[in-house]
Amino acid sequence: MTRSTELNRVAEEYVRLVLAVGQHDADYVDAFYGPEEWAAGAKNSPRTLDSLKDAGRSLQAEIGRIEVSADEEIVRLRHQYVSKQLDALLARVNVLSGTKLSFDEEAKAFYDTVPPIFPEEHFQKLLKELESLVPGPGSLSVRVEEFRRRFVIPPDRLDAVFTAAIDECRARTRKHIPLPPNETFNVEYVKNKSWSGYNWFKGNCYSLIQVNTDLPIFLERAVDLAAHEGYPGHHIYNSLLETALVRARGWVEFSVYALFSPQSLIAEGTANFGIEVAFPGTERLAFERDVLFPIIGCDPAGAAPYAQLQALTAKLSYAGNEAARRYLDGAFTRDQAAEWLVTYALMSPERAQQRTRFFDQYRSYVINYNLGQDLVKAYIEARGGTADAPDRRWKEFAALLSSPRLPSGIRL
Ligand SMILES: [Zn+2]
Repeated sequence: MTRSTELNRVAEEYVRLVLAVGQHDADYVDAFYGPEEWAAGAKNSPRTLDSLKDAGRSLQAEIGRIEVSADEEIVRLRHQYVSKQLDALLARVNVLSGTKLSFDEEAKAFYDTVPPIFPEEHFQKLLKELESLVPGPGSLSVRVEEFRRRFVIPPDRLDAVFTAAIDECRARTRKHIPLPPNETFNVEYVKNKSWSGYNWFKGNCYSLIQVNTDLPIFLERAVDLAAHEGYPGHHIYNSLLETALVRARGWVEFSVYALFSPQSLIAEGTANFGIEVAFPGTERLAFERDVLFPIIGCDPAGAAPYAQLQALTAKLSYAGNEAARRYLDGAFTRDQAAEWLVTYALMSPERAQQRTRFFDQYRSYVINYNLGQDLVKAYIEARGGTADAPDRRWKEFAALLSSPRLPSGIRL
């Protein structure tokens, strides 16, 4: 067998294993657009967790025997991709079989990375910076919530705002990344979810983007969601992987997306960093002020302080990881985790409760957003894609989106 045939064979077996694990874990298979009979096979002939463990281990051994050190980089990355994704799959099977992992152990096993730990004082310092921006009596989180309330998108404007944001993100992306001619998406507004937005990639460069309307949606979320779920985030990441790897090379392992796997750190990290790539410097502020503020009938004079608030609260995102770590490791009850989120992540009590349900469902997945963003940013910048070199930044970003690179491959 040639190396490429060997890799294709283990890749196919990997996909079948992912689909089989999906029969034990409803959230596991986030996307699959490979052969339909494989999905039907997984459903009609379910495999036990023990048999999946055995199959996973023998596939690991088989991958280990494939020698790629003399191959071109993309083949080496492919080999590493299947190998690391498979390690994470086995870890997931062990968890489904009852193995208990701490937050940090799980992050390492599923996402190929070690999340940093921040002490409470770190967030207290950041809150002090915010105090001066939103002065007054009462708790800071209540003041921030009141400040933000002016920027809630009225439900009857939601679609107009979101459409404008996604149009802008798409226009900005296509200036720098040649978009596949058939790429397209639909937006749906849904309720009763633990997340605020979701991209369901269906193959053929088509995404279903869902926006959760359980809680009021602030204006800032329009650009966040449009860029993160759509352009140049998940929709483009998945479309480029499909075009460059699945269709052009026949690498079937990219037609399946296992949610609890290292790929998620790259997916969420690029989706979050993509917001900054699409709107460098003050361009986001200008777009929100000039285009989105008029749609919701808000005074454009409020745009600058609002943007300043976003910049400061963004630094608090790691407070969410700390809440998740303590809650999932048993140091916090749900209410204590929610209270921490209100205090240090400045969420409303309702949003904090919603977030604890996200912790229940997705656990250490939370690290993929902020740590993923930081790792992707550092990787792109180390390759010359800094904020003052926007074309280079787009180029490096697009290259990452079309490659099998995993967290170990972007760590500096
Ligand atoms: Zn995402």
